[in-house]
Amino acid sequence: MSRLPVFAPTKADEQARVIADAVINRVSVYGNSTCPLETAVGFFKLCASQSCGKCTPCRIGLTRLTDSLESILRGERVEGIVEQVIMVCDTLYKSADCAIGFQAGRIGLAFADLIKEDAESHLATGTCTQPFTAVPCVKECPSHVDIPGYIACLRDGRPEDAVRVIRNDNPFPSACAFVCEHPCEHTCRRGMIDAPVNIRGMKQHAVLTAGQVPTPEKAPATGKKVAIIGGGPSGLTAAYYLALMGHDITVYEQNQHLGGMMYYGIPRYRLPEANLDYDIEAILSLGIDVKLGVKVGVGVQWEELVKGYDAVYIAIGAHHFKDLGIDYATREGVMSAVQFLHRVADGRPDDVAGKDVVVVGGGNVAMDATRTAKRLGAKSVRCIYRRRIED
Ligand code: SF4
Ligand code: SF4
Repeated sequence: MSRLPVFAPTKADEQARVIADAVINRVSVYGNSTCPLETAVGFFKLCASQSCGKCTPCRIGLTRLTDSLESILRGERVEGIVEQVIMVCDTLYKSADCAIGFQAGRIGLAFADLIKEDAESHLATGTCTQPFTAVPCVKECPSHVDIPGYIACLRDGRPEDAVRVIRNDNPFPSACAFVCEHPCEHTCRRGMIDAPVNIRGMKQHAVLTAGQVPTPEKAPATGKKVAIIGGGPSGLTAAYYLALMGHDITVYEQNQHLGGMMYYGIPRYRLPEANLDYDIEAILSLGIDVKLGVKVGVGVQWEELVKGYDAVYIAIGAHHFKDLGIDYATREGVMSAVQFLHRVADGRPDDVAGKDVVVVGGGNVAMDATRTAKRLGAKSVRCIYRRRIED
């Protein structure tokens, strides 16, 4: 079972909550017992990215704040640096022209004592004041996988146990081993000496050498039934942990394959089907019932689910594409990259062989579409992106 630590809220949690409230409608994710300085850096960076930069307090002040806090986090003691941080917050609060600078200063001042106390601790001992600060790589991993734990298993030549450790927090060790952007490695402490530990590479080694690893024993049956709408990463993750807790799970998936965007969005050359199946088969081995090709509202009614189950988890994913305002349905040859990749995964690719293809965008999905079009035999593939190559 996943580790579910319970902590009483600390002052740092209160700081994180106030910041989260201030930036509501933007995505912010904080780990357990977040370091107040790291939280403040993240917040001031967010403010700087939103600032128009026209007024000096905002433009210079926010950059100076993040620079100072980051140098404290690196343990660099500069005379008066802590006082300078508080002074900049005060200046922002009193003189910034817009709400962004004002709010940055206000929240900085509201937690001035906490920032001061924590900065002194970082400078004096290189540690945080908070009672529990997660290992940097673990904190950065979106699933908070116990990275040192699985590395230790690999060191001892026990890849099966490494897979078990990963599954405690993430039932998709194989998928993540192939396609995760591995933010964990960006904060790896080994990077301060030479280069970060190849965390994702080791995960790949674990899944490729472990063979089939049985899932843990399920808890005794609770008699509760849960319906899950959507068989993608979220739905299957919920299915896995709920089944382990002893609940009776049924997954409703509108497509003919489980996996959601892992199956329909990520090309096979990046995430081979066999490796995705490795994870899905392990999840289903818990006895999860799957209804493929069933759309809620068509194949099954919402009322039936509400009546027939003790709980319903909606995990319908984010399959809609960013709309450019083009009428995709009536313009022949114009389609979203999401649709294009979906059809390729579904075994009915668009015929682009010998054609000139233009991909608008430069993110992950655009790159997947570009490379897939090339693989489908396009004569030329041009990528149009708003940024420059050096950006
Ligand atoms: S590779 Fe991704 S999933 Fe794996 S530990 Fe790193 S961040 Fe977490
Ligand atoms: S050295 Fe890197 S991988 Fe190992 S525990 Fe530290 S941060 Fe994580």
